[in-house]
Amino acid sequence: MNKGILVYAEVTSDCYLHTVVFELSNKALELSAKLDNAPVMALLLIKPDLINEYKEAFQKSGFDKVFYVVDERFSKYTTDLFATAAIQAIEQINPEIMLIGATCQGRDLAPRISTALHTGLTADCTGLDIDEKGKFAATRPTFGGQLMATILSKNSPQMATVRPKVFKPSPMDVVRDTAFIKLSVNLTNFVSRTEILELSKKIVNEINTLDSAEIIVAGGRGMKNSEGFGLIKQLADKLGGTIAASRVAVEMGLAPQEIQIGQTGKTVSPKLYIACGISGALQHTIGMNCSKKIIAINTDKDAPIFGICDYGMIGDAFEIIPKLIKML
Ligand SMILES: Cc1cc2nc3c(=O)[nH]c(=O)nc-3n(C[C@H](O)[C@H](O)[C@H](O)COP(=O)(O)OP(=O)(O)OC[C@H]3O[C@@H](n4cnc5c(N)ncnc54)[C@H](O)[C@@H]3O)c2cc1C
Repeated sequence: MNKGILVYAEVTSDCYLHTVVFELSNKALELSAKLDNAPVMALLLIKPDLINEYKEAFQKSGFDKVFYVVDERFSKYTTDLFATAAIQAIEQINPEIMLIGATCQGRDLAPRISTALHTGLTADCTGLDIDEKGKFAATRPTFGGQLMATILSKNSPQMATVRPKVFKPSPMDVVRDTAFIKLSVNLTNFVSRTEILELSKKIVNEINTLDSAEIIVAGGRGMKNSEGFGLIKQLADKLGGTIAASRVAVEMGLAPQEIQIGQTGKTVSPKLYIACGISGALQHTIGMNCSKKIIAINTDKDAPIFGICDYGMIGDAFEIIPKLIKML
C-alpha cells in the first residue's frame, strides 16, 4: 500500500488540467498533514509529449508524485479506454485514498473504478476529513439533503468524488520536488466499444458564464414571476454578474435547470452571491455557501438564509432591487 492520497488529474478537451484538480490537491494536502504527511499523488492519462506542459502546475500545487500513462488515444475521453487504463494504473499505485472531481468525466469514471477495485465510493462529497482513528471520512448530504452523513469505507482505496468549487483551490505556492513516474498499462489489444463523433457546447449565456462568474444574483420563489426575474437580470447586468436560481424557481419555469444552484444543481463560489427571495434550504445553500460574501434579500426575518449571509436586507425584493439598481 502506497499510503498516499491519489487525485485523478482530469485533462479537459482543450488540454488544460481541470481546475478541480487544484481544489482536490489543496484538500489532499490538508488530509496528508493528518496522515503523517502521506504523499499527495496524481494520476494523469495523457497523449504523448504533453507531460512537460503540466509539470510546473503539479510542482506548485504540492504534489509529491505524478504517475502518468501515455497513449495517443487519450486525446479524447472515452469511458472504457480511460477506465481500463486508470484501473490498471491504480492497481500499481495502490493508494489509500482516491479523490476524483465530480465533473462529467469524473462522474462517469469513478463508479467504474470503484466497482472494478471492489471498493466503496462516496459521491458528491461536501466535506473530507481524517477521523480520530485515522480513517478517511467523507461527508455528503443524504435523505434528500435533510441530513449530512459521514461515510467510512472498509476497503481501499477509499474513494470520493467532489464537485468543482466545493473546496478552495491551491494557492499554487506549495512547491514540491515532484517525482514524475511513467506507468505502463496494457492497452495493446484494447478495442473501444464507443467512439466520440462530435462534441458540441450548449450556448446559453448565463449557463456558460455561471462557472466563472464573480458576481451571481440568484432568484427564488419569492421573485414570483418573469417580472421578478427581470429585476434579477437587471441587477446582475448592473453589477457585471450573471443570474442563477433556486430549484423552486426552476420548477416555476422562471429559469432553466442549467442555472439551478444546489444539491441537484451547480456548486458555485463567486466573490458575491445575492440571494433574492430564497429561503436558504440546505439543498440550496450547499451549492453556494463557499461564496466569499453573501447578501440576502427576504421578507421573512426568520428565513434560514439570514443565518449564513454576511449582510441581510429584510424587505420586499420588488422594492429593494429597483432601489439598488437606481443607486448603482
Ligand atoms: C432531493 C432534493 C434536492 C434538492 N435540490 C435542490 C437544489 O439543488 N437547489 C435548490 O435550490 N433547492 C433544492 N431542493 C429544494 C429545497 O429543499 C427548497 O425547497 C428550495 O431550495 C426552496 O426554494 P426557494 O428558496 O426559492 O423557495 P422557498 O423555500 O419557498 O422560499 C421563498 C422565500 O422567498 C421569500 N419571499 C417571498 N416573497 C418575497 C419578496 N417579495 N421579497 C423577498 N423575499 C420574498 C420568502 O420569505 C421565502 O423565504 C431540493 C430538495 C430535495 C428534496
